[in-house]
Amino acid sequence: MQNKQWILSSFPKGEIQDGDLVLKEQKLAELKNNEILIRNIYLSLDPANRGWMSGQASYVDAMQIGDVMRGGTIGVVETSNNEKFKIGEIVNCMGGWQEYFITDGKGVQIIPQNTGFPLDSFMSVLGMTGMTAYFGLLDITNPKEGETLVVSAAAGAVGSIVCQIGKIKGCRVIGIAGSDEKCEWLTKELKIDGAINHKIDNVREKLKELCPEGIDIYFENVGGPITEAVVTRMNIGGRISLCGLISSYNAETVVPGPAWGNLLIKRIKLQGFIVFDYFKRAMEAFQDIGKWIHEGKLQYKNEIIPGIENASSSIKKLFSGENKGKLIIQISDDPTL
Ligand code: NDP
Repeated sequence: MQNKQWILSSFPKGEIQDGDLVLKEQKLAELKNNEILIRNIYLSLDPANRGWMSGQASYVDAMQIGDVMRGGTIGVVETSNNEKFKIGEIVNCMGGWQEYFITDGKGVQIIPQNTGFPLDSFMSVLGMTGMTAYFGLLDITNPKEGETLVVSAAAGAVGSIVCQIGKIKGCRVIGIAGSDEKCEWLTKELKIDGAINHKIDNVREKLKELCPEGIDIYFENVGGPITEAVVTRMNIGGRISLCGLISSYNAETVVPGPAWGNLLIKRIKLQGFIVFDYFKRAMEAFQDIGKWIHEGKLQYKNEIIPGIENASSSIKKLFSGENKGKLIIQISDDPTL
């Protein structure tokens, strides 16, 4: 059997360029004792992928030139030499940007079937994206009713869920996003209290208008000048959940940072986190988020692009803001549909 794989062939400088990743076809290796063969169905495209390609170790090991591009996947077990996994089981793992993944099962989780939720939702709202929003907001910032919460990349996969959980918890929620269409979706569909288009509006002025009593919580997804404007308006005892800094992922020079002086004077708590820290508590997020979806309190958008060939060109949408919700590549047929 042949296996199409995206291979890291150079560390990108600035934005990912054609040729940094190269699609190759290889013969699949024979399965050894204890190994399973997974056919990848869905591949998650994430802003973090850019960092993994940089050649620098962070919370994960650095990727090397020649490696299969690292990525989160949902797949189906097609062959098993491992008694923990049965053929036909649907699994979640870091299966990489490829059609097939052979593994000894370490780090592979079985996804429950017949939950009533579509399989791709386990790659977004009921997967890492939902957990990032859920724990990043609730665990790190402990939001209280009546507090003002500002969310950047608010119309994105993580941000849109943070906004809705903020509303469920009784916060006044202001989102920052990159188009009028996104801002309208946030206020009209998700019913948050206000939205700012960072590509047109003066973010500082708009924050003054929409957060007259200051900002208690900031869910940070972007960094740079937006953060500077938000932090400047934060209240005493504010909390910041440092989830991501997408504005700097392609940068080759240092991007302007937040108003650190205000963090100090106002005793603001800033905490970074990686969603991996919360894997053991996944069930908490799964149960609450599932309930909120059933109750009509939480909605989500997945943009599913068919064809492994489109992975490398599609990831650029995350940095231009063209993605419409959680960006997912469909590599092969979903047997649950
Ligand atoms: P999104 O669906 O939010 O897509 C990324 C969005 O970021 C784009 O649509 C764009 O929206 C916005 N963006 C891109 N470049 C810029 C820029 N220069 N300035 C302002 N906004 C920009 O992706 P995710 O929801 O997957 O990720 C959101 C953030 O969460 C990222 O920073 C990511 O790294 C982080 N993350 C962190 C995790 C953790 O464990 N800490 C886990 C998962 C994600 P717009 O059009 O609105 O500008």
